[in-house]
Amino acid sequence: MVVQRFKTCPRCSNGCMISYLEEAGRIITIKGATCPKGEKFIYETVAPPDSLVDADVYVKNGMVSMAKVRSAKPVPGPMVEQFEKALKKAEIEAPIEFGQVVIENFMDSGIDIVARASVKKYVQ
Ligand code: SF4
Repeated sequence: MVVQRFKTCPRCSNGCMISYLEEAGRIITIKGATCPKGEKFIYETVAPPDSLVDADVYVKNGMVSMAKVRSAKPVPGPMVEQFEKALKKAEIEAPIEFGQVVIENFMDSGIDIVARASVKKYVQ
């Protein structure tokens, strides 16, 4: 089903009102953008680009309580936000080595999460 949507471009103070036709996440036409930045904004909003996802996750039994991680490969654009939210709730266990896969097949995406830093295990 083709849907007409409207968005105000936030890329400059002109605030152009852009209308576009979308069908199943695919843009058909864009009107109202005074410059290419407006069209780019719409494409990025409707179909955000694939990208690596970075996050800080909780560490169990570690010398520190948080560790930096990254997706092992680019996450498809529409899933990036879900990845970021889910990683905020994730927990991994020390010891952790730099580059180690800490979560396999995250969210059944086929994408692993790897450590960007080493964390030693806490020993009393
Ligand atoms: S479309 Fe271009 S001119 Fe219009 S608000 Fe966006 S950046 Fe500014």
